[in-house]
Amino acid sequence: METLELKKEAAAHAHHWIIEEAAGPLSGGRCKTCGAVKAFKNWLADSDFITNEEHRVAA
Ligand SMILES: [Zn+2]
Repeated sequence: METLELKKEAAAHAHHWIIEEAAGPLSGGRCKTCGAVKAFKNWLADSDFITNEEHRVAA
């Protein structure tokens, strides 16, 4: 029970991601508050655009 409360508390804050400069398709980000690490995709917007194009052709 106490462990679950700790987990909940850790996820309660809005992660303050410090994103490293893009050096490829992925950028490393670290939360300034809790130290969590996450990889951010730099090409997500491009991928969405291509998906929209394909959807228009299919329709
Ligand atoms: Zn955090």
